[in-house]
Amino acid sequence: MSEIIDIAIIGGGPAGLTAALYGARARASTVVFETQLPGGAIITTDWIENYPGMPEGLSGARIGELMHAHAEKFGAQFRTFAKVEALRQEGGGFVLTADGEETAARAVILCTGSVPRKMGVPGEAEYTGRGVSWCATCDGALFRDKVVAVIGGGDAAVEEALFLTKFASKVHLIHRRDELRATKCIQERCFDNERIELHWNRVPVEVRGHEGRVPGVLLQSTTGEPDELLELQGVFEFIGVHPNSELVARLAELADGGWVKVDATMMTSVPGLWAAGDVTDTPLKQVVTAAGQGATAAFEALRYIDSGVCTL
Ligand code: NDP
Repeated sequence: MSEIIDIAIIGGGPAGLTAALYGARARASTVVFETQLPGGAIITTDWIENYPGMPEGLSGARIGELMHAHAEKFGAQFRTFAKVEALRQEGGGFVLTADGEETAARAVILCTGSVPRKMGVPGEAEYTGRGVSWCATCDGALFRDKVVAVIGGGDAAVEEALFLTKFASKVHLIHRRDELRATKCIQERCFDNERIELHWNRVPVEVRGHEGRVPGVLLQSTTGEPDELLELQGVFEFIGVHPNSELVARLAELADGGWVKVDATMMTSVPGLWAAGDVTDTPLKQVVTAAGQGATAAFEALRYIDSGVCTL
């Protein structure tokens, strides 16, 4: 086993990068384990305009880059493309296994975020990557002058529908109710956009495929109207997210839906293990809350290490 580190952070999104900044600035040895490049889910977010102090907004990729550079400047270390496969308590601290290598840590902060939920309808799996997508930033340009559908009525669906109007000739926004969940100012932009057509009280029940491409999606009404086949070339799903909490499922207490339970200091049910950001059972999932929770978790982890409770 390599040397013992003070704080291991699992996940390099806004929560993990902020925790890394706070840990490293306090001169604790701080290592971020990240399966991709640092930045997390915001890398695929076109524009973020509700992070305070940036009235013009900034792309998610740039915010991720800056947060990474900021943490690195103060001495945080990064193990990129390193998946933490196991986490166990040992000797008063923790042992993480990543790429077959074990690392001992006095405190751990879990910032593993979430993954997009799937509809689970016929055609969805078969046409994933061939018309069905969960990332408008990645795949939007492939649908220039084409017709696409966005499924969902939350912030992600409405923001990504607006983004897709930069490429697609038409965006059908399909929502299962008659009222959007998204933030009001984003809704207003959506209602004002002539390229977006709203379909209320509808759920997709099948993604139609033909000879390797998507010619349409079958919509069912939630209010008893007849089924409708929309002709289009792309389907983008934004119907919520699942927490990436499997790593601690046998260790820490989880809330319904698999979210990691945390207290006001972001500590989980396991002393020495904190969680921050989208993986937690906190209600508001935003860059600003993830960053604040990462800072809180690191601050508390530092106090825990300094208190001498950890015997590692
Ligand atoms: P949300 O959970 O906020 O919204 C999911 C949407 O999908 C809801 O409108 C929901 O309908 C609909 N839905 C859920 N299941 C189904 C289904 N099986 N079939 C059809 N529709 C379905 O998820 P988001 O991904 O939009 O956002 C996740 C979190 O991230 C939220 O907290 C959000 O605020 C945040 N976020 C913030 C952003 C920002 O501030 N700029 C940008 C993106 C996300 P219903 O409304 O009926 O429940």
